[in-house]
Amino acid sequence: MTVQTNVGLPKVDVPRYHFDIYAVLEGPQELYFGHETQVGVNIVETVRIATEKGEMEKCYISPTKRRGVERRTLIWAPVQSEGVLLGDKLGCGVPHTCAQPTCPICAVFGGLITSTTNVDVMGKTEKRSPTTTIGRLVHGGGVAIQPQDVVEKQRAMHPSMMHKAPEKEPTPMPFRRQYNEPGLLYPVYNHCLSVTEAEFTAVAYAFLNALARLGAGNPKGVRIYEGKLIEEQEPLLVVDRYLVPLGKRPITSPSVTSIREALAQFRADALQVEGQTVAQHEVSGPHFTRWLGSAAYRKLQEYAVQFAELYLK
Ligand SMILES: [Zn+2]
Repeated sequence: MTVQTNVGLPKVDVPRYHFDIYAVLEGPQELYFGHETQVGVNIVETVRIATEKGEMEKCYISPTKRRGVERRTLIWAPVQSEGVLLGDKLGCGVPHTCAQPTCPICAVFGGLITSTTNVDVMGKTEKRSPTTTIGRLVHGGGVAIQPQDVVEKQRAMHPSMMHKAPEKEPTPMPFRRQYNEPGLLYPVYNHCLSVTEAEFTAVAYAFLNALARLGAGNPKGVRIYEGKLIEEQEPLLVVDRYLVPLGKRPITSPSVTSIREALAQFRADALQVEGQTVAQHEVSGPHFTRWLGSAAYRKLQEYAVQFAELYLK
């Protein structure tokens, strides 16, 4: 008997790398990230942090929610020449992922088919066998810097009522919902394990496009916070492509509550490569390349454009 030890990834003739994206996001308006409903209140997801000063509650953009929004951004991407969305073209959705090796979404986000399934793909029936594609993209961070309390607001009508004919529900149903307050800063990161640059284009496209869509219901959206990195005012964003992680990882400790302290730490870590403090927007060596601030933003945009060229024409 021969034992299979291979991971199942096809051999490629281009290099594979690890990639990281580090960013500080800001909610420019109140945001709702649903957790559960208690006594008629829609509760936002929070985390409890133990610090030297005691326990505190912080708002949270959970990595799993960011991942879901990013994946849907790819499924809903328009394929220009065919008048369909990418997910429809590939027969790849949520929860019915296609798990095909050719799918740019499943290649990085992973996919699973538990039993033989017939799938309608653009009018043709495709038979798919049980298979697993291991995801190579993981999400982290998301705990707000400021320990601001959630705000609770009364809304006139629950969103589910808006789809009903007026004569069916003549009385608006008031409901209460919590929100993350505007102006909270959320340090986040994405990590990719052994992907090609072509595969990373989907990650860049999803990361940039998901910014406008984070949050449940309305309002939605975050921005990449701007502050001092190499220049005084630029996106607090770092992109790494590497075999060896030679840069310090700009990850904010959840127990830090001071914006000034958190951003100074993010900057200090972002500027540390191979034990040296760097002063330029791009640092490149044989095993590690880091793009910072506006250069990192442009690099992600370049990859995202490549994704559109590859899959959305
Ligand atoms: Zn797929």
